Amino acid sequence: LLMAYDPARRLAKLQVQLDRAVVNAQMIYALLDMQPAQREMAGAKDLVVDKARVELKNVVFSYGSGNPILRGVDLVAEGGQTTALVGPSGAGKSTIISLIPRFYDPAEGAILIDGQNIAEVTKSSLRHQLAYVSQQPYLFEGTIRDNIRYGRPEATDAEVEEAARLAYAHDFILAQPLGYETPVGENGMSLSGGQRQRLSIARALVRNAPILLLDEATSALDNESEAAVQKALDTAMRGRTVIVIAHRLSTVVKADKIIVMHEGRVMEEGTHEVLAQRKDGLYARLNNLQLPVRDLS
Ligand code: ADP
Ligand code: MG
Repeated sequence: LLMAYDPARRLAKLQVQLDRAVVNAQMIYALLDMQPAQREMAGAKDLVVDKARVELKNVVFSYGSGNPILRGVDLVAEGGQTTALVGPSGAGKSTIISLIPRFYDPAEGAILIDGQNIAEVTKSSLRHQLAYVSQQPYLFEGTIRDNIRYGRPEATDAEVEEAARLAYAHDFILAQPLGYETPVGENGMSLSGGQRQRLSIARALVRNAPILLLDEATSALDNESEAAVQKALDTAMRGRTVIVIAHRLSTVVKADKIIVMHEGRVMEEGTHEVLAQRKDGLYARLNNLQLPVRDLS
């Protein structure tokens, strides 16, 4: 179990290789409680989650003293529903996602979960309610079992295997000679892109958190892997509040709500049916040009 708490050096090494994916790496740290969050208020109470409704109210944010990145964002992700963030690269979608575990704090405005300001609750109670699946699935050195268990170090073997089943990973894991004890990572077995993604979904599932933050992968998988990953994600999303940076048109179309971002602002929101008919709208224009959504994000 010590191992599960001691990947910091490996992660540090990993981060060097990541370059542009730094925000994602930071998210992994944050959700493993290794990255210090913004300061906890004296006398902070535990977050109490019921519907798991997430609300941003007039959120203004910039990195350091740089340009404003979020310029007054208001949005609601209803409990148990899927809210898709779309918009051109640089619009601020990943930044929004990184504010929710309090990797950064807004300069103005607030983020509420079930009406409680996340700046006023304990960090551990906040992060217990969150799971994150990044674009790039990270594998740490260790066994397949360790890699899933990173999602919740106290999970039992049975819970790890249940998460793997739900993520459609159990069968390919058992097909390995050492099963769950198979080493992966830098010097371990090589896994296909789809298998890595399913392991990272299993890692999120073992947390069993009501809020799922999802940065959908852009890289194409072969059809078979794509279908397996999609089934795993559908399982992970069911019954949860999902905020997804959507790159696939199918994800956008299925979302309960689409938030169209541009230059740090919410330009439009609604369902695909409604937004696609608003002829002069940003979403409709993108849609009519038949640009694949993945090219926009
Ligand atoms: P999106 O996910 O919509 O592509 P991001 O939230 O990643 O947008 O980025 C919004 C803006 O913030 C971009 O201009 C980006 O260069 C900048 N940015 C993102 N992360 C950082 C960071 N860690 N430090 C400074 N600027 C950043
Ligand atoms: Mg992004």
